[in-house]
Amino acid sequence: MNSEEELKRIAQEVAVCTKCALHYSRKNAVPGEGPADARILFIGEGPGFHENEQGRPFVGAAGKYLEELLAKINMNRTDVFIGNVVKCRPPGNRDPLPEELAECSVYLERQIQAINPKVIVTLGRYSMAHFLPTAKISQVHGQAMLIKGRLVIPMYHPAAALHQASLKPIVDADFARLPELIAKAREVPEYKEEAPVEKKEPKQLSLF
Ligand code: URA
Ligand code: SF4
Repeated sequence: MNSEEELKRIAQEVAVCTKCALHYSRKNAVPGEGPADARILFIGEGPGFHENEQGRPFVGAAGKYLEELLAKINMNRTDVFIGNVVKCRPPGNRDPLPEELAECSVYLERQIQAINPKVIVTLGRYSMAHFLPTAKISQVHGQAMLIKGRLVIPMYHPAAALHQASLKPIVDADFARLPELIAKAREVPEYKEEAPVEKKEPKQLSLF
């Protein structure tokens, strides 16, 4: 199966998924969208009201801001893949629960394997925690970490910057550095999963 087919299949599975309680209140699942061979993957938290209505990621106020941030670095949302850690809207936009994140992150992992991006930008705490469970966003935002052959760059969620004006210049500055980091990612060598250590059969001792 090629990556496009795998992404389609994930979207079909997510649309009818009942693995966590978020399926009860969803109108449309939001699997994410973008080119199957995108070099950059943005990961948000989860669908909000408008995303749940339309089945598309980042189509509300946060999405508009994300598009503005991308435009400032001469990028368009269609150049990148945009997804979320949970694919169904948490009721009232509450934070996703640990069990919901655990169930849904299997889809996210499959999307990462299919797209195979060189750069992953996490937006907000929950997508950061998928890669860096103990990191504090105030300490690591904007810094690229090399994780399994990909540059993972944690950033504040655009919605957080819309609610808290003091974060805006920080988000702007972190985004402004993205082109440089994307260029750096070209030098990252292909990651090879380490081969499991083979269990050697104990050598036969010939006893005379
Ligand atoms: N916020 C998110 O985290 N994801 C979306 O898709 C929209 C808003
Ligand atoms: Fe399934 Fe994820 Fe939706 Fe939960 S949030 S029902 S795990 S697709």
